[in-house]
Amino acid sequence: MNHLTDMNRRQFVQLGAFAAGAAMLSADASAAELPAHALPALPFACDALEPHIDARTMEIHHGKHHAAYVAGLNAALEKSPDLRGKTLDELLAVLPAVADESLRALLRNHGGGHWNHAFFWQTLAPSARSGAPSEKLTAAVSSEFGSMDGFRKAFGEAAAKRFGSGWAWLILAGGRLKITSTPNQDNPLMKGLVPDADLGVPLLGLDVWEHAYYLRYQNRRPDYIAAWWNVVNWDEVSKRFQEARA
Ligand code: MN
Repeated sequence: MNHLTDMNRRQFVQLGAFAAGAAMLSADASAAELPAHALPALPFACDALEPHIDARTMEIHHGKHHAAYVAGLNAALEKSPDLRGKTLDELLAVLPAVADESLRALLRNHGGGHWNHAFFWQTLAPSARSGAPSEKLTAAVSSEFGSMDGFRKAFGEAAAKRFGSGWAWLILAGGRLKITSTPNQDNPLMKGLVPDADLGVPLLGLDVWEHAYYLRYQNRRPDYIAAWWNVVNWDEVSKRFQEARA
């Protein structure tokens, strides 16, 4: 009799566990309908930017650093289901409204890291395919910075003097080109979070975290910046300028 009671109890417990499992499965199924953020493929081979940016740096930068930002973003979104259906741009736009400070920091760092790197790969190209700035972009650069050389000098200075980790940017803001710089994985789309930076539409960005250049250039950030100009995807930058002006 006792034995039978035990059996029934065990069966009941198992059924309970099954029901709980089924509930978890259905929660997982509804979460799975919302696409998790994914690491985009590089638009070129890891060694395609040699000798300016080396293959090993690209492998680690994309396959480890960028992948970690994507994983960190998805992990943070596990804790905030209401934000899971948003695009990355929408997510960055609502960051100031995220009340939980530690969650906001995770979304800012990993969401920013994902956005910045996805953008960075798109604005790079092997030097043979790097193109040239469009006539309209060249004209706008000349009117704002005097010449393309004047722009390169000012942009390079912004990238070189960013203390520690961060990014230099060319943005379109209020119809004008501007150079700005952000710390960490912040970017010029983060309204209300980056008081020292100009906000606007990013057209070109340069990652000056040491992980972007240390294997080949060690402490010589200016050498990395000088080499990077050889692999800027000017067709992409010109296209983004055209779209941002429209
Ligand atoms: Mn990076």
